[in-house]
Amino acid sequence: MNKQRRSFKQKEVGVSHKKRKNRFSVALVYPNVYHIGMSNLGFQIVYDLLNRRDDVVAERFFLPSEDEPLCSVESGARLADFDLIAFSISFENDYINVLKILELADVPVLAEERQKIYPLVIAGGVATFLNPEPLALFFDLFLLGEAEQNLNNLMDILIDSYGRFSNKEELLFFIATNEPSVYVPSFYRTEYNKDGTISSFYPVREGIREKILIAKKIPLDDIAYSKIISSETEFSDRILIEMARGCGRSCRFCAAGYIYRPPRYHDPADLTEVIQKALDKKGHVGLLSASISDVPSIDKILSFICEKKGKFSISSIRADAITPQFLDYMKKAGQKQVTIAPEAGSERLRKVINKHLREDKILEAVQLIAKAELSLKLYFIIGLPTEEWEDVEQILRLLKLIKHCVVKEGAPKGRVINIKANISCFVPKPFTPFQWVNMEEVEELKKKQKWLSKKIGKEGGIRVSFDVPKWAYIQTLLSVGDRRVSHMLLLAHKFNGNWKKALRYSEINPDFFVYRQKDTSEILPWNFIESGIRKEFLSQEYKKALSSEESEICTSHPGCKKCGVCSLLSF
Ligand code: SF4
Repeated sequence: MNKQRRSFKQKEVGVSHKKRKNRFSVALVYPNVYHIGMSNLGFQIVYDLLNRRDDVVAERFFLPSEDEPLCSVESGARLADFDLIAFSISFENDYINVLKILELADVPVLAEERQKIYPLVIAGGVATFLNPEPLALFFDLFLLGEAEQNLNNLMDILIDSYGRFSNKEELLFFIATNEPSVYVPSFYRTEYNKDGTISSFYPVREGIREKILIAKKIPLDDIAYSKIISSETEFSDRILIEMARGCGRSCRFCAAGYIYRPPRYHDPADLTEVIQKALDKKGHVGLLSASISDVPSIDKILSFICEKKGKFSISSIRADAITPQFLDYMKKAGQKQVTIAPEAGSERLRKVINKHLREDKILEAVQLIAKAELSLKLYFIIGLPTEEWEDVEQILRLLKLIKHCVVKEGAPKGRVINIKANISCFVPKPFTPFQWVNMEEVEELKKKQKWLSKKIGKEGGIRVSFDVPKWAYIQTLLSVGDRRVSHMLLLAHKFNGNWKKALRYSEINPDFFVYRQKDTSEILPWNFIESGIRKEFLSQEYKKALSSEESEICTSHPGCKKCGVCSLLSF
């Protein structure tokens, strides 16, 4: 047994141990290292769904370190020895690792070069159902949407059809015509206009759907939580629990607020039961939700955790939801830092992004946090649509006001100021009102970062960190590119991850995807995916953004027809 695998196995609790004999075998791959993959609840959900079935055995693979072989954590098996290789992909920056892993396993990276039927190479995960096209050349099929809704059907189809087809294309056709959320890229053709935009995207075989439906589990039944605990993960000391799926706040830059519509919540009593069990096991729960304060009865749930003398952690909270009571729970539960996300420094830009957050609310929250003697972390974004230099200056102005609040509360008691600010770069995402917007030029972002870094540095007491703009550029390319970006990815892989060199050799200028403002009438690479959200709704939201107009949040009330998702689901 190799060193790394032995170490992982020794540190894990809750792993499924099944024999492969007479079972359909799945290599479940997270395209990054173990530490990151096992911190991802989505990956754990898929592993659990697969191994719950008696006719399936799933083993995990991660990107190995340089000197270690690629093999499954469970049995040390080779990747190519499974019936199915299934990648779970959450982040665009992991795409390049998909190619690396296939190469390490001696599996041809291009789908068309894989002549043998098995193993099929497939992918799912949120990055793929936002836009799978930059990965189109590498996968036999994509399973789009929430695994609780479509994974079992796909496994039934694969198991029932095992050995029945003598050619891969016929097997893929059979799968695609029996599961509406399966997308087989080789069954579609893209044609382009002279200016490089897409003129048409259509299925090349009769019987293949024009639109692929994103599968959604509505209502959610089981409450997802991390069943495998490992000391080798970011959250080694706690059990992660999904408190809600989606978010109704409708921030216009955020994909989670659109792709997971409608937002879904669990019964608070059921959540409390799962939390109770988790606390009995580990004493610490990580509560996952895009907007934790919107979880029904969250106050009661947090009070329950505190009564049980348990610990909880949350990633961030809306500033306008912060109360002395909430902070008291956080302190009792061992949290030392509160994270809030003003996102923009100016009132105007917060309206553009539909943040529904006024400056007085931010400052009230900061005052309460300082009073509670907790440290403060803030998230901002630069390069947002319509941002002017003035808006960047407003970040500095707001930070000064925040610092002043903290000093006023803390100084008389001799407390040290502890403020962190993370300033990221805006990356346009499919299925959001900003899907047509270009990313701001890297050089401009660098200028803004340099200015902010200098000015905030002079202030003292605020530790600031920034995204690397060139990585935001690659992320944008992989988020909104079409299948021609697959070739750039292939080049980047050939040049050992050297994107600069890869983009230099690319036949198409990548700026075409990253820096070009798209017309709302343009065919976008992900238009063949049916998310339920009407294009007219998104373009209307985009127009409102341009005139700094906020719109209502999604309250998931029955009968609502606002964005279109609920009408589609009620069919
Ligand atoms: S139709 Fe209404 S309730 Fe349903 S997701 Fe859209 S905005 Fe929310």
